[in-house]
Amino acid sequence: MSIYRVHCAGRVLFLADELAELSRVPGGGCRLEPMLWCELESGHEGRHGVKAQFAGGPAVPDPYTVWMRWPDQDEYGTGRELSVLAACPSVFLAGHTEEEGCGLYRGHPGRHGYEFGPPLATMTPDMRMWLGRLRDDGDLGLGLGLNPDLGLDDDA
Ligand SMILES: [Zn+2]
Ligand SMILES: [Zn+2]
Repeated sequence: MSIYRVHCAGRVLFLADELAELSRVPGGGCRLEPMLWCELESGHEGRHGVKAQFAGGPAVPDPYTVWMRWPDQDEYGTGRELSVLAACPSVFLAGHTEEEGCGLYRGHPGRHGYEFGPPLATMTPDMRMWLGRLRDDGDLGLGLGLNPDLGLDDDA
């Protein structure tokens, strides 16, 4: 494990129709961003991937995450898709106060998120807040074990 962030440098620019689709996600917890960075480990195989929107709130009994995945060479070609993906079930230090969920999707390429550090610098404030809320709810799938000094629960 490294204290340095070594996440992928891939980035995606969302198209207008994609942003429109994301805006229809029920209880969408995140401000939509026109550009996001890949959350996978640097040098990973396969498509890039980033959380694009979260569905939650009273109208959504089972919160879910919409991911954007796109090919490295043909960003707007086939293989680019918005889809709901299950969370990677892997948890570091499970059962301990310091436990930390992977934060990526099930079956992702590369190492687990906690093995190379969550790319907090590339996450939007809404995403951090949302992940913090999940942690407080006891959800083990996406909790990041964030340092409270980071003030990520502001406005939660
Ligand atoms: Zn990537
Ligand atoms: Zn994982």
